[in-house]
Amino acid sequence: MARLAGKLVIATHNPGKLREISALLAPHGVECVSAGALGLPEPAETGTSFVENALIKAEAAARSALLPALADDSGLCVDALAGRPGVYTADWAERQWFEGPAGRDWYLAMGKVEGLLAGLGPQAPRSCHFACALAIAWPDGERAVYEGRAPGTLTWPPRGSLGFGYDPVFVPEGGTRTFAEIDPAEKHRISHRAAAFTKLVADQFG
Ligand code: IMP
Repeated sequence: MARLAGKLVIATHNPGKLREISALLAPHGVECVSAGALGLPEPAETGTSFVENALIKAEAAARSALLPALADDSGLCVDALAGRPGVYTADWAERQWFEGPAGRDWYLAMGKVEGLLAGLGPQAPRSCHFACALAIAWPDGERAVYEGRAPGTLTWPPRGSLGFGYDPVFVPEGGTRTFAEIDPAEKHRISHRAAAFTKLVADQFG
């Protein structure tokens, strides 16, 4: 079974994810280099699950860079919305219907989720979870996948300025503050990415 050592491509162009993944791998002596820094193209995320999309990204980066590559695919799944936005979490932030520069607008995305929930009435459950799939691909075709979840509830209006994406509306189970209000080190202990990483670390470095 392949084991991570030396250089590892982090197959993401998302600076928030790169920061979190590098911090989680720092204690294990792996040298992280981002797909963005290597100028690797971003493959289309055509999968219908987090695992499929993570594998698409990791395999594309490993093939191009001829190095092992790690990809994360993650998103928010809202129970009352049948698990949406799910694998389309990032797409819901696209500013395609608005004037101005193209790009992602997380306030727009959080508002879309809130609007749909509000449309279901005040009794609609606000439970949700963040899901994360981590995939490692090696240039010889070997691969490994690890999944994690962070359960919680949605709050409105958004609170806090730390973190990224949907953090300002996500209150982790058992807490009162949003992911954007808690210290990043604490988020790294309890997040969906941390849960998947615990499995990765046990398997790769244990
Ligand atoms: P993708 O995995 O690149 O398709 O993007 C998933 C999207 O889910 C991200 O761009 C974020 O908006 C959201 N997301 C994933 N993990 C987190 C998190 O830890 N906090 C907030 N939002 C997240």
